[in-house]
Amino acid sequence: MNCPKCSTELIQKYYKGMIEVDACPNCRGMWLDVHELDRLEDVAFDDDAQKGSLIHFQKKTEIPCPHCAMPMHEFQYRLYDLKLDYCSESGHGFWLDAGEDERVIAAMSQRAQNIQRKVDAEMEWKQVLKNMHSFLKKKNGKQ
Ligand SMILES: [Zn+2]
Ligand SMILES: [Zn+2]
Repeated sequence: MNCPKCSTELIQKYYKGMIEVDACPNCRGMWLDVHELDRLEDVAFDDDAQKGSLIHFQKKTEIPCPHCAMPMHEFQYRLYDLKLDYCSESGHGFWLDAGEDERVIAAMSQRAQNIQRKVDAEMEWKQVLKNMHSFLKKKNGKQ
């Protein structure tokens, strides 16, 4: 397979020692198979139900899929300010430019934190209600 951006031959490597990717030694982009993007996200956040939809606002590009050479689609990744390319042909996979892998992980850590914050806020609110409740009970008890 050749790099869709600079045509250099892709080499297989282990990303973070756990995901097999086809990486470009020249422009440092990488190709992820369909399930490998999910595994990349799982590094930071593995709650699939809370991730939201993956693909938004897709449009066709001129960039060829390294598998089948069909033009890939560009899409907005999970409504973040990040655009990735993918091949829609029988779910070939995703192309990440240099640094976009780190942005995927950063986006997922952010989402994990936001969800934790939401959970914390709900817990705090429940505590407030509980305190209010026992305060009112005490007050009413005195009357
Ligand atoms: Zn390249
Ligand atoms: Zn393809």
